[in-house]
Amino acid sequence: MLRIENLCVKIRDKEILTDINLHIEKGETHVLFGPNGAGKSTLINTILGNPKYEVANGSIYFNGKDIIDMPMYERAKLGIGISYQSPPAISGVKLKSLLKIISKRDWEDIENMVKHLNFEKFMDREVNVGFSGGEVKRSEILQIYAQTPDFIMFDEPDSGVDVENVELIGNTINKLLDKDMKICDRNKSGLIITHMGHILDFMDVDKAHVLCEGVISCSGNPREILNNLINHGYKRCIACYQKKKH
Ligand code: ADP
Ligand code: MG
Repeated sequence: MLRIENLCVKIRDKEILTDINLHIEKGETHVLFGPNGAGKSTLINTILGNPKYEVANGSIYFNGKDIIDMPMYERAKLGIGISYQSPPAISGVKLKSLLKIISKRDWEDIENMVKHLNFEKFMDREVNVGFSGGEVKRSEILQIYAQTPDFIMFDEPDSGVDVENVELIGNTINKLLDKDMKICDRNKSGLIITHMGHILDFMDVDKAHVLCEGVISCSGNPREILNNLINHGYKRCIACYQKKKH
């Protein structure tokens, strides 16, 4: 579904991502670990086509189509969705009104998801205005559910969220990514960014990657990589990456 080849990305002449290669098949969900400032958010913003990020080299294919020159709204129409790490607050716009505009689902389905996320009392509030960390994440998940993209990127859905809500968010992401189906029957794919990996206690992923200083330094079994991170932190990843580099 998503194929990234030799991608290099710059912000204001500073190279942030170097030679990124990433293949995510239909039905697969990958997780991207990395220390602060490694370039994780840069990668998913570049996949979505945020013009702040300049592609200096490389290609991005979505379902076989080269999307590198497409604006964000065309990529969104093709079925690429994002749940932001820190989305803006939109004063003057009620969450319910936004959902009515962006939703491709029956309103009854939206109402069921609102109940599932315990979000009834936020529907008449302005989008993200005064929302807590966990409330912002649930608001993002609800908007993603309404838009029904085929490829969903979640930027740190577990950061700033209490344990109960991490479980709720993890279970909901599992459902959004068709994780309750066999891999060959799934239609959705995902890329989940997590710094500490809490969300993985509540959801399944197929493959993990570690991003260090803008380079994918390691890929493999998610549990194995997470256990290494829990036991040794990112220090070991950075040391391993430095060793590979020289
Ligand atoms: P992560 O999500 O892994 O924490 P980011 O992708 O947000 O990292 O940032 C990667 C690097 O790019 C950081 O060093 C950050 O300071 C830098 N960066 C992000 N935005 C800008 C900008 N507008 N101007 C200059 N540097 C930026
Ligand atoms: Mg980030």
